[in-house]
Amino acid sequence: MSRFVFGPVPSRRLGQSLGVDLTPTKTCTLDCRYCQLVPTSHPTTERTMFCSPEEVLAELRQVLSSIAAPDWITISGTGEPTLHAGLGRILEGIRELGIAPSCVITNSTLLDRPDVRADLRLADRLLPTLCTVQPATFERIHRPVPGLRLDRILDGLRELARSYQGILDLEIFVCKGLNDTPEEIEGLRRYLATLARFDAIYLNTAIRPPRDPAIVAATPEDLEAFRRALDPRWRVTTAFEHTALPRRVDRTPPPPRQGVLDLLLRHPCTPEQLERVLNLPATTLADTLHALEQEGRIVRCPDGQWRLA
Ligand code: SF4
Repeated sequence: MSRFVFGPVPSRRLGQSLGVDLTPTKTCTLDCRYCQLVPTSHPTTERTMFCSPEEVLAELRQVLSSIAAPDWITISGTGEPTLHAGLGRILEGIRELGIAPSCVITNSTLLDRPDVRADLRLADRLLPTLCTVQPATFERIHRPVPGLRLDRILDGLRELARSYQGILDLEIFVCKGLNDTPEEIEGLRRYLATLARFDAIYLNTAIRPPRDPAIVAATPEDLEAFRRALDPRWRVTTAFEHTALPRRVDRTPPPPRQGVLDLLLRHPCTPEQLERVLNLPATTLADTLHALEQEGRIVRCPDGQWRLA
């Protein structure tokens, strides 16, 4: 069983993305109300060597030898990956493997730290999140670890944009009624205009049900209005514009129960996605989902996706 590597998972932005989860579930600097994972059980801002980079790279090497090359090797998972003190070595190791480019999905909270920015410079692509430039809204949406300051995060992201050479795609997670008012969007627009560069903006929203049912997803029209309020010169895509599904991979299927639980821990999926990613016959998958549902391990969301209970 893989300890760190999961997928490849279907990703709207990254196509077929092989995930690497570096933090114990769930270690994060935030406890976002829109999070689709379990609540943050280990809130921290301290960088730790949760596991040995060489162990992660050995597992990655082994998984990559048994599957078709993914589009991206993506450091993400069940927490904030920049909390891993060995992130730089892991990104360096992925580059040495030479099989697929690396990508890091980060919540941006540690970008004020020079050591974090130095590690991230070794990634081929970064997807930092920024939802607001208003401290009160930041607190309301993200429920940060005490001591995290939005002004430092904004400075850190500005510094990263100045020095980073890879692909830099920002994500704005839109929570209806919280960060989509004209004042909020204007604040973001003004801040983003101060960045030296970025490649694209992705407007995401709670397409899958978040943990906090009070969070309301933006509609396609809401995201369209948000996009129009930003600078028309920026490349802005929305969560409603991508339908990428991964191609079936050539690999030995994992035991169905474990495969389903491992994947749903990191990424809610439709039955179709599970079938393709895990390379399972439809009947085996249906039986497994039924059994896990009966045991109360997984639940079906109103949009047809499965996630951990
Ligand atoms: S959405 Fe990301 S940053 Fe927010 S709590 Fe979940 S894992 Fe942490």
